[in-house]
Amino acid sequence: MATQKRTKIVATLGPASESVSVLARMMRNGMDIARLNFSHGTHEHHELLIKRVHQAARKVGKTVAIMQDLSGPKLRVGELPEGGVKLTRGKEFLFRMKGAFEQNGDALAIPLPVRHFPRFVKRGAKILLDDGKMEVRVVSKGAHWVKVRVMQGGTLISHKGVNIPHTAILMSPVTAKDRADLLFGLQQGVDAVAVSFVQSAEDIRSVRSLITRYEKRYRLRSADRPEVKIIAKIEKPSGVEHFDEILEEVDGILIARGDLALEVGYEQVPVLQKELIAKCLMKSKPVIVATQMLDSMTDLPVPTRAEVSDVANAVIDHADCVMLSQESAVGKFPAETVERMRDVILETERSAYDDIALGHVFSMGDPSDEEAIAASAGLLARMTDADGMLVASLSSAAVRLVSHQREELPIFAITEDPRRERQLVFFWGVTPVFLSSPARNVEELMTNALRAVKQRKLVKKNAKLVVVARQPVGKDGPVNVVQLVQ
Ligand code: PEP
Repeated sequence: MATQKRTKIVATLGPASESVSVLARMMRNGMDIARLNFSHGTHEHHELLIKRVHQAARKVGKTVAIMQDLSGPKLRVGELPEGGVKLTRGKEFLFRMKGAFEQNGDALAIPLPVRHFPRFVKRGAKILLDDGKMEVRVVSKGAHWVKVRVMQGGTLISHKGVNIPHTAILMSPVTAKDRADLLFGLQQGVDAVAVSFVQSAEDIRSVRSLITRYEKRYRLRSADRPEVKIIAKIEKPSGVEHFDEILEEVDGILIARGDLALEVGYEQVPVLQKELIAKCLMKSKPVIVATQMLDSMTDLPVPTRAEVSDVANAVIDHADCVMLSQESAVGKFPAETVERMRDVILETERSAYDDIALGHVFSMGDPSDEEAIAASAGLLARMTDADGMLVASLSSAAVRLVSHQREELPIFAITEDPRRERQLVFFWGVTPVFLSSPARNVEELMTNALRAVKQRKLVKKNAKLVVVARQPVGKDGPVNVVQLVQ
């Protein structure tokens, strides 16, 4: 059997990765999840990408999930003259909340169409522009303007991002554009929706109820079909502060290190990454580490040694997924970038550094019956030197608990629903296995599942597997069967 990596790869799609042939190569090289970044592109283009992802996945014979990433309430400057505006160190200018760009001799007014912006900044506050490339400080402010002094100059172009470090901003996580994008994504049947700049658990609850409303109004999902998964992007200090409540509410986490570094300070991010991943592991919720992982491969065929270490460290930290951003969206080597990432993952997983000690589940305090069953299945697999684990359950809870233990053997998750099949891809080590015929009892389910994994050559003919299942089958509820089968 070919060695399978356990950590999943999310690749952002864009012009560099829009053809079926490139997508197929990326999938063969290890891409598991396609990220559609709704900060860019039209609905027509995203629709085309979604069709092509499904087409390429069929061609390659691989389950690939689609994650829609909503742009969220990112602060951005407005329209500026073509070629941008030069900001000179030591000079002052105005951000205006209303009105267009204006230049009168040395006097400069730059539109920043965020109504309550002056409320969020104090005199002396640092404001970062264009991903931190430029820095200004607040000198004074009025009801609709903020005067700033340039500390680090550069050329500012239209719509570039604005960050105010260490500042909570009262904003809905879903803008009017996000609502239209979300409805479009639901109509297209995306598997997960990533919500940007999440600051509280309430943000997630409001997105969930919006999804329910859209699904009802437009009849997008019948009750027996799985819901779209919600992923919270952590990139604001308030998102970090309220992380525990957010984690309770959400299906998964994305550590968006780009904005996070600007908002909390670059030096905070490596330790925060470890702390957030550890919390996700405790709650058995999937976590994606994102941003600049192999950034230099946007232009070059080889990554830097520091980038390679970054990917390896995310694996060692026990992330479920690692993500590619512009490298795969607009880079020159999208398929090679995925391949490099896969190789680093495989090599790191071969080491003991990413392993988790047996009994990790007991460090969770008082395990539930289902957690105890999942842990005993892991123990059984280790003691019997099993070739894999097979989870057969209607809900994804059991899969989460088995994946959480990071056993170094394949985890096959049986499902009868194509959307759930794709959603299972987010979990570390999990290979979804689709069964089209429902089983009448556990024995039949095991027989069908075993046949399916052998037919797909996922395990050898006489493989020994630990099965975790729910008896009676077809009923939702915690798993209650652990069995060794061959
Ligand atoms: C980030 O900020 O790191 C991130 C992943 O978000 P986006 O690409 O939407 O800015």
